[in-house]
Amino acid sequence: MADRIELPGFGIGTRAVAGPVTRMAGPLPEPPPVASDRTPDAELAAARAALAAVAGQLRARAATLAGGTEAAEVLEAQAMMALDPALGAAVERAVAAGRTAARAIHEAFDGYLAALAAAGGRLAARVADLADVRQRAIAASLQVPVPSVPDPGHPYILVAHDLAPADTAVLDLGRVLGFVTAGGGPTSHTAVLARSRGIPAVVGCTGAERLTDGVTALVDPARSLVIGAPDPIEFPAELPAATSDGARTAASAAFAGPGRTADGHPVALLANLGDPAEAVAAAAAGAEGVGLLRTELLFLDAPAAPSWQRQRDAYRTVLAAFAGRRVVVRVLDAGADKPLPYLTGPPEPNPALGRRGVRALRAAPHLLRPQLAAIAAAAATEDAEVWVMAPMVAEPDEAAWFTAEAAAQGLLTAGVMIEVPSAVVLAEEILAVTDFVSIGTNDLAQYALAADRQLGGLGALQDPWHPAVLRLVRLVGEAGARAGKPVGVCGEAAADPLLACVLVGLGAGSLSMAPAALAPVRAALAGRTLAQCRALADQVTAAGSAAAARVAGLP
Ligand code: PEP
Ligand code: MG
Repeated sequence: MADRIELPGFGIGTRAVAGPVTRMAGPLPEPPPVASDRTPDAELAAARAALAAVAGQLRARAATLAGGTEAAEVLEAQAMMALDPALGAAVERAVAAGRTAARAIHEAFDGYLAALAAAGGRLAARVADLADVRQRAIAASLQVPVPSVPDPGHPYILVAHDLAPADTAVLDLGRVLGFVTAGGGPTSHTAVLARSRGIPAVVGCTGAERLTDGVTALVDPARSLVIGAPDPIEFPAELPAATSDGARTAASAAFAGPGRTADGHPVALLANLGDPAEAVAAAAAGAEGVGLLRTELLFLDAPAAPSWQRQRDAYRTVLAAFAGRRVVVRVLDAGADKPLPYLTGPPEPNPALGRRGVRALRAAPHLLRPQLAAIAAAAATEDAEVWVMAPMVAEPDEAAWFTAEAAAQGLLTAGVMIEVPSAVVLAEEILAVTDFVSIGTNDLAQYALAADRQLGGLGALQDPWHPAVLRLVRLVGEAGARAGKPVGVCGEAAADPLLACVLVGLGAGSLSMAPAALAPVRAALAGRTLAQCRALADQVTAAGSAAAARVAGLP
């Protein structure tokens, strides 16, 4: 029996879950160019069988999806790649030269990958698909598992070195009870997605590799802890799901209605959405509108930008759920941990500091303009109040450019995210050319403290309680008050009930968060006057570290 182990990390959510571990395999190493000890005929048969098996698996997966969808088409196209006769001939030549099946497949795909990448445009966007087929075929020829989200056929705890946001977005919640990753920080996009999808997780988990397949793991995000092989007696006491959900429902019923402080100062409580399908539930959870619709997920799992019509329909779904209310649609925020081969270009040494967000969009008006047009088309048929917002703005010039692009499509309320320190310093100039700003505390913390969101080990520096971040928020709040324009917060900070009060004290007029956080934040605000929020903000920002700020904020 496995020994009990306790592994610390950063918890996402509050609900504890337990189940058997299934690990996601790491990427396969390149098969070495060693001479085969089998006959060329045997290697060729193995390579052909592997390619045929992969094509069969991909077709079977496509058949489970609605026909004609982009996802089904991509899988069908991948199946055809595996069976391409020219590729088969290249494999045959490599085997004849003495290669193993795995190495022959690797080399045969190499030429195709290079040719596709060199072709550029839509063809280059297929590189990732082809690389995936190669990976699957090599795995099949070696008879090892394909490194992708596994499906053991029963509910399980997923343990991975790291998960891409695109993987997290499509995790099957009927199967994945929760997940544990060795990489990733508390504000990584994977963590953000887990929070919005309500998946309990512990990220940046030290020692996650010690959780082996089949061992029982207790994922306890409230304590930021994973317990491998827990004692049976600690189980019931450590699974408070029913109680905490019940408490949340009660809190929500007691404090329904618009957000306001105890003395009636209004604070719009809005939802962060990553998937249009979440809109109805967010409205039901009491969101007064949407403060951040992250649109990149529409783009992330596709080999090319989604069509204008598909985008318009997705935006309409959200607008329809919020008739008469504000919906802030953020245009595509690609780059860093959300790479889009067809937008962000070749790999960069420091992608978080690279051509991302609005910088990437400026170089790709052929992507931005259809997106804005799709938002405008959706706005024209729905009753929501549509605002558009640009990500990762560093200078007023970028903000002015975006305002003009939005206006050209008839979108007359345009704002920007404040998540780069230079945008804080220049907030006044930015507000002169935009209608509103929304502070992204996740990236603002990352850039203010030079602490990568993706690195679990730097969690203490990515803490939005950090007084350096909060003092920056105050500067933006003051600039907004001088300009008479709205300042909101849409980073994860807004989802922490006590910190939400601090943010209001610093000048935030709206707070946008995962819908599950709305009720506790509403309750916390209702318990303090605006003057008390300001006093709390003064206490907290006077501290010298996040830890000291948390202590200073204690009731
Ligand atoms: C942020 O950076 O705080 C933010 C809300 O944007 P994202 O998390 O999508 O980068
Ligand atoms: Mg951001």
